[in-house]
Amino acid sequence: MILVETISDFRAHRKKLGGTWGLVPTMGALHQGHLSLVERARRENDHVAVSIFVNPTQFAAGGDLAKYPRTLERDMQLLEPYGVDVVFAPSSDEIYPPHFQTYVTVEEVTQPLEGAMRPGHFRGVATVVTKLFNIVQPDRAYFGQKDGQQVAVIKQMTRDLNILVEIIVGETVREADGLAMSSRNTYLSYEERKAAPVLYRALCAARDAFQRGERDAEKLRAAMRDVLKQEPRAHVEYVSAADPNTLQELEVVENSVLLSMAVRIGSTRLIDNFLL
Ligand code: AMP
Repeated sequence: MILVETISDFRAHRKKLGGTWGLVPTMGALHQGHLSLVERARRENDHVAVSIFVNPTQFAAGGDLAKYPRTLERDMQLLEPYGVDVVFAPSSDEIYPPHFQTYVTVEEVTQPLEGAMRPGHFRGVATVVTKLFNIVQPDRAYFGQKDGQQVAVIKQMTRDLNILVEIIVGETVREADGLAMSSRNTYLSYEERKAAPVLYRALCAARDAFQRGERDAEKLRAAMRDVLKQEPRAHVEYVSAADPNTLQELEVVENSVLLSMAVRIGSTRLIDNFLL
């Protein structure tokens, strides 16, 4: 496993190693959620690249960019046993040199939910993922269901721009109490960490209702809100039962539904979802 910090070094290395490539894009502070994607990429490709880049363009001004955990040495140690070929960890200047001025904007699917709460977020995500695809030229790229709207955005973008890459989605990896693993969980205080599994419990309540035959989307949203209300530390940003591809809110679930939510616990913003 080698660490590469420049685009030209990555390309030189990529040229030397033929065969198929899998890419796992991350912002580092790796946990089992990331590693499950790496493991799958390892199984399905001849070579694996993991990118570690805290992408400034997807953070809002005054967001948590400055305090986002950066743990490259530990990340390298965690990746070591997974048979990764290249860790690509460029600087911000390498990805966004002076006079950079081209962005990728995906339209409708970025409007609701995370897009509404975090203006500009998906423009940053779509731009950096396009750049990573152009740099790495992977056959397959691996994303987590944890970021459900991101999956819809990346799939839409690769279709629209005819990018020749297969998008593979890995299941959300959770702690024993159901909390979805996230680099941001480290921001939680002891008391907040105890409150955080309320997101999972709310999703389970809506899933249970769905499994009992409930297809009224508003009732599914209400089931989630009812559980979240019971946790005084939880401040709900949104609760959604939407079409998994368009992210438009449903009235009636006919096929599949993406149940999702963003909830603040203290000053930490958590998101989670179930795809049913
Ligand atoms: P991040 O470093 O947060 O940008 O995440 C990098 C990739 O890992 C994204 O595709 C995420 O959706 C995915 N990911 C993050 N947390 C999890 C998790 N708990 N389970 C599965 N995938 C995850």
